[in-house]
Amino acid sequence: MIVDRQGRRFRNLRISLTAACNYACTYCVPDGKRLVAAQDELSAEALIRGVAYLIEAAGIERLRITGGEPLVSPKLEPFMRAVGTLGLSDISLTTNGQLLTRKLPLLLEAGIRRLNVSLDTLDAEAFRHIARGGDLATVLDGLEQARAAGLKIKLNMVPLRGKNLDQVLPLLDYCLERGFELRFIELMRMGHLARDPSAFNQQFVGMGELLELIGERYVYQQAEAPLDATALRYEIPEGGFFGVIANESVPFCRTCSRLRLSSTGWLHGCLSSSNRHYIGDLLDKPRHQALPALQRLLVRALADKQDLAFSGGVTVMKIIGG
Ligand code: SAM
Repeated sequence: MIVDRQGRRFRNLRISLTAACNYACTYCVPDGKRLVAAQDELSAEALIRGVAYLIEAAGIERLRITGGEPLVSPKLEPFMRAVGTLGLSDISLTTNGQLLTRKLPLLLEAGIRRLNVSLDTLDAEAFRHIARGGDLATVLDGLEQARAAGLKIKLNMVPLRGKNLDQVLPLLDYCLERGFELRFIELMRMGHLARDPSAFNQQFVGMGELLELIGERYVYQQAEAPLDATALRYEIPEGGFFGVIANESVPFCRTCSRLRLSSTGWLHGCLSSSNRHYIGDLLDKPRHQALPALQRLLVRALADKQDLAFSGGVTVMKIIGG
């Protein structure tokens, strides 16, 4: 097992199935242009081999499938059909929910029991303004169907000053009524936001302000969360939970166990680092040749982790997934 001086190791893998997305969210894609799949993206078979090798070489236990938008990818079906056979203890998926209704049968058949759906507002006009793609009613419909099918659902919201702060309480009400857990993700200094501090500062909303806002309507108390969880979790005694992923306010680098694999075969040990390590060429090799080389790259990827706090990075979420 590869472990660093702080006792950190890779346990959770996030795999980006494709960089393509049917949204162009303002904080992710500054020019508003929809993303298409990169020409050199790996096939579903190669990505599956990548996950299998990383389970062995790094001790990966849990997998999150992300993107881009994973549900737009033709690789989704072959990937989902194979990934359940790899012996992972948990497989989940992060989606914007636009194609959820259509892809739900496949996800259920593949054994998915947990979904994270990104939704920044319940206001149709604000939705159009932030997501710049898709349609709110379709997402809400998909969420109802996923709930009816018994999936455990978390909603991800990025609070943005001037864009959706008025949606913090409506989204929390919506989630509590349905047994969903809302996760507020503090805006991260990534991509264009890492290069433009004033754009970041104008929009950023910290955990303190969020909790104050929630406290106007709800009593809440901190709840337990696993040691390497990124979210601080809160319980509302009336019934329900919410979480805050407070990259800026309460950094969690000390316990980070995440590894990311991009759709083009690059390993990222840390969102804050511009280092990346190519493994695409190893995936055609037999196990006995691939694993030693992979382990050497994993040592370097682990060394890319920040000691203490997320300091921002030029890498964009759309490339490696959230
Ligand atoms: N398309 C999928 C989705 O919408 O969930 C998966 C990919 S998306 C990049 C994953 C998550 O990253 C979303 O919840 C999105 O809101 C979040 N995200 C993207 N850029 C971010 C940023 N700069 N700060 C915080 N969260 C960000």
